[in-house]
Amino acid sequence: MELDKMDENDWKYHGEGNKSLVVSHVQVILRLLKYPAEDSENPPQTAEQAFRQIQNIVDFSSNVMSSLLGEKFIHSGEVVKLPLEFVRQLSIKVQHQRPAWRCDKVMDIYSGCALCLPNLTSPALHQPTHTPPLCIEIKPKCGFLPSSKHVSKDIKTKVCRFCMHQHYKVANGKWKRRSLYCPLDLFSGSRQRMHFAIRHLIEEPQNNFKIFKGGQCIYSSKEGSDDSLDLNSLLHHLRPYFMYGNNRINSHMMGKAPLNDFIQFLVNALLSGGGGDGGLVMDRRGEGRSFCEASPINKERIRHGSQGLPSDSVLFRILQTQMLDTLDIEGLHPLYRRVEQHLQDFPKERYRLQIDGPYNEAFLEKLQKCPTEDDGSVEYAVAKVHQYRVAMTAKDCSVMVTKERDFQDFLSSRPPAFSYSVSILDLDPKPFDSIPRQLRLDQKIVSCYLRTGGALP
Ligand code: ATP
Ligand code: ZN
Ligand code: MG
Ligand code: MG
Repeated sequence: MELDKMDENDWKYHGEGNKSLVVSHVQVILRLLKYPAEDSENPPQTAEQAFRQIQNIVDFSSNVMSSLLGEKFIHSGEVVKLPLEFVRQLSIKVQHQRPAWRCDKVMDIYSGCALCLPNLTSPALHQPTHTPPLCIEIKPKCGFLPSSKHVSKDIKTKVCRFCMHQHYKVANGKWKRRSLYCPLDLFSGSRQRMHFAIRHLIEEPQNNFKIFKGGQCIYSSKEGSDDSLDLNSLLHHLRPYFMYGNNRINSHMMGKAPLNDFIQFLVNALLSGGGGDGGLVMDRRGEGRSFCEASPINKERIRHGSQGLPSDSVLFRILQTQMLDTLDIEGLHPLYRRVEQHLQDFPKERYRLQIDGPYNEAFLEKLQKCPTEDDGSVEYAVAKVHQYRVAMTAKDCSVMVTKERDFQDFLSSRPPAFSYSVSILDLDPKPFDSIPRQLRLDQKIVSCYLRTGGALP
């Protein structure tokens, strides 16, 4: 990529989240910051601050999250400085492709800074003669129920955060229908429950599920539209990738079998060590016996008890990192206040305590060497806040599974080894001062759920 010869016509709109907008050009993507639309005339930060913010994302991902989640899953990318004219033209070009509900924010056209990453939906391995790679993005959200003694409402220990949040989102008109996906099923390690969870992601993807083919998004939720998603067109897309063995082709052509094979493929990828390495490591830890009362899964019908997730699986690593939130927001908030008070008294401590970075080995050490008991110190409080922020990032990340289809698929009755790869993306640090907001949101979600008794459709 020659930064001085950037042409907006080479780039196309790829997608966006709440914080950033992504454009792609074959094997790379640029991830640009977004600002609230009200600030569009005057940016909330200088170009240097924007550069710092993106460098912090890179550092957090490569020095902190990658050692917690496993390097093999992570691409941290690098900060690039783009010509301002290119960025302006790009923002005009992509504007009409953006979903209306995301347009409360505008793309940053002032700093010229962006994060450059490999395009995971169009990997380098892809050979043009083959069927394009199929990529599945899952945003799994929080996979455990809090067991902290600081939890004040019993319901939080029975119904998971995602399921409660669904009721809140429907009540507030964010989504028309509730998703029946439950993260506790996905993180259970039970194939049956995982299959069930993925089926519900397909039925109601919201912003938790997307499918890309050859770099193009072919399946996702269209917010605000009531259209049911086109399962037939999805089946049509999936068929060429899931026809193992000649003898099975006929039945696959007819029915929904590719959908089952597709889900099975995803379950395998999520339980594996990540590199299409075939055999599962049976060293399973964890109970895997926790259920969410809001999940429609029928506990009596779970055929096999699960021993939990294999310890080298992507889901295990994500769950372990999420579980660094040991106190729940209710137990964490007083410690946040302790840090905040300390910073008011000693503003210069902000750097030593690494509140806004730098996200280096010392930061990682602070959170890993946290004492188990609260000794009343600010160091303890900071370590717990750091742990909580890391857990928040792990609750918000996405998993990308890429499947390469090759000719062998036709010939053998088993998919070939190394036919897929697994990555984790969206590993931004969550700001220190987002913690009070987290407490308020938690209270709103729980009280909404208690008010409606979880009785919404
Ligand atoms: P969120 O609201 O989930 O926090 P965000 O604003 O932080 O999102 P990302 O999730 O990083 O932004 O990126 C938005 C979308 O762009 C992703 O959901 C994914 O579909 C796509 N994307 C991001 N990084 C890559 C990548 N390296 N390769 C391919 N697609 C990507
Ligand atoms: Zn749930
Ligand atoms: Mg995201
Ligand atoms: Mg994000």
